[in-house]
Amino acid sequence: MNTVDFLLIGGGIIGISIARELKSRHPDSSVCILEKEHQCGLHASSRNSGVLHAGFYYTADSFKARFTREGNQRLTEYCEAKKIKLKKCGKLVVAQNESELVWLDELMIRAKNNGVPLKSISVEESRTIEPRAKTYQRALFSPTTSSVNPIELVKSLLSDAIQEGVQLKTNVQYMHRLGERSIKTSDGIFEAKYLINVAGLYADKIGKDFGFSKDHRILPFKGLYLYSEEPPSALKTHIYPVPDLTNPFLGVHFTITADNRIKIGPTAIP
Ligand SMILES: Cc1cc2nc3c(=O)[nH]c(=O)nc-3n(C[C@H](O)[C@H](O)[C@H](O)COP(=O)(O)OP(=O)(O)OC[C@H]3O[C@@H](n4cnc5c(N)ncnc54)[C@H](O)[C@@H]3O)c2cc1C
Repeated sequence: MNTVDFLLIGGGIIGISIARELKSRHPDSSVCILEKEHQCGLHASSRNSGVLHAGFYYTADSFKARFTREGNQRLTEYCEAKKIKLKKCGKLVVAQNESELVWLDELMIRAKNNGVPLKSISVEESRTIEPRAKTYQRALFSPTTSSVNPIELVKSLLSDAIQEGVQLKTNVQYMHRLGERSIKTSDGIFEAKYLINVAGLYADKIGKDFGFSKDHRILPFKGLYLYSEEPPSALKTHIYPVPDLTNPFLGVHFTITADNRIKIGPTAIP
């Protein structure tokens, strides 16, 4: 039997970040990450747009708004300190028609309430920032949105975690709950004072074993990106559509990667 103080199920960016924070707050406690794959961060954490969002999509009273704003600042500082490539290209949110202008206004309100810089700009100003972007009457420009290489970021966070004393067990899969504080894994039984469920798309299943998320189910979507063959820097900023704020997607967008490549996506295939 393996016994630890804090046991995290899932070695994505969230699991690694929480493990580091726990270790820094409780240096004398043992913190261990279980990851079912042969290495960390192989799922959503390395297969995303790599955008450090600014924090204007969510209402200011939500954790998401606060965490996005603070996360943008802290990850920017982290990447600069660690010399991880950061593309500070900003982002345009463009409208297609009259009906979308109201949502631009709503995003401005959310940005203001959350203390996030966001500018409402004219069609001409939008063209100056990115000549190829089209917008209806006006657009928004977010100067603090940027992009990183998510694989590089996860690698660096994990290396810090290990150096700080976090234990990592790869190829170990959570199977099911055994008792109040013990679980069965593919590598035997683990007992922990605290179990942290950070298993990404499988978090609902683990949650159910412990009496949570009875009425919730994760509905996974597959997202595809298409890389442009245009030369690097052919686009100057990220371009996003006005989101439908009633669903969780930000819409198909053009992003500039930290390596100056351009990609469009993601699709959302249930
Ligand atoms: C297409 C797409 C684009 C996105 N773009 C952005 C973006 O530009 N900016 C942004 O901030 N966010 C973006 N996101 C969201 C972001 O990628 C996720 O919020 C983040 O990666 C979630 O990290 P995680 O650690 O919770 O999950 P994951 O990365 O999925 O990690 C969970 C880990 O748990 C492990 N695991 C699962 N089950 C078990 C088990 N039984 N036992 C042991 N281990 C297990 C998995 O192997 C995995 O490594 C995007 C997401 C998608 C899908």
